[in-house]
Amino acid sequence: MIDYQPLYNALVDAKAEAWAEILPQQLERGFDPTKHGNLAEWQALVDSVPELPTAQRLLDADTVQIGSVDEYCGGEFIRSGRLKSPLHSQLKALHPWRKGPYNLFGIHIDTEWRSDWKWNRLKNHIAPLEHRLVLDVGCGNGYHCWRMLGAGAKTVIGIDPMMLNVMQFQLVRKLYGEAPVYVLPMGIEDMPYGLKAFDTAFSMGVLYHRRSPIDHLMELRDCLKPGGELVLETLVIDGGLGQVLLPEDRYARMRNVWFLPSCDTLIGWLKRCGFKNIRLVDVTVTSIEEQRTTEWMTFHSLKDFLDAENPQLTCEGLPAPKRAIVIANAA
Ligand code: SAH
Repeated sequence: MIDYQPLYNALVDAKAEAWAEILPQQLERGFDPTKHGNLAEWQALVDSVPELPTAQRLLDADTVQIGSVDEYCGGEFIRSGRLKSPLHSQLKALHPWRKGPYNLFGIHIDTEWRSDWKWNRLKNHIAPLEHRLVLDVGCGNGYHCWRMLGAGAKTVIGIDPMMLNVMQFQLVRKLYGEAPVYVLPMGIEDMPYGLKAFDTAFSMGVLYHRRSPIDHLMELRDCLKPGGELVLETLVIDGGLGQVLLPEDRYARMRNVWFLPSCDTLIGWLKRCGFKNIRLVDVTVTSIEEQRTTEWMTFHSLKDFLDAENPQLTCEGLPAPKRAIVIANAA
């Protein structure tokens, strides 16, 4: 069980009492096993993983590494290829693993995404995270939250409404041990209005899932202290100010994709929402090396969502995924 008291204390310290007050009930609701078909099973799985004290905890490398093969029973057998550690099947039971990579007691989780590539694109552009209270909106299983902690953040709070992500985080957190990093089962719409408590807020891979992107930017601004930093990563299209793509139906097979602005349009939106000091720091076309099917995510991936003849288009004939990272400050 994760002890949330240090989190409540951190929120009170940051003058976010409004959230600290309602969070216990939000967590109770989020972790209510009657609300989600698989939750009781996933919780039992996490409970069955032993606490394994380890000094090997590496958060500032591409692969988040906890423990070594020698520290968990069965380790000897893994190396000789004869018997897999029980942890292997416990981790596999939480398939699909989309964000990573991780190495947990010698088991390398080769996730669908090389999430370390995104981190490497932004890490030299952001304000140093030392002593900061950080929010990661739509954090997935928390891979980047660990990297933020590794970069010195005081406390990292990830939020994500998908329970499989939350439970993957809980398993990793159990293996890591106590740390000021949390992944909470909720969406940004569940945050109280007007917190103005975070030093840095990340929103990566979320904006295009929101039906109302301007409201999303307003909500992010509202989470930040005056002068706090927003790190925004989202899908963009080529084009000038005012251009934006709203797919008629699916985008790269996804049903829940709404607005894909050009970079200039995105910057314009941020200006309208009151952000200052807006910098476009990276634009990268997503490659089939960065997002792909692996042993830990066996479903279809980017390659299957692109036009087989012309990889510059999605299978729907729309521009293939290209992502921008924009950094800005709340006024
Ligand atoms: N930030 C990670 C994961 C991006 S995937 C990265 O950049 O690699 C998008 C995530 O947003 C998913 O895990 C999804 O569950 C989450 N999400 C969807 N709607 C959300 C909402 N309303 N609030 C917060 N997160 C949301």
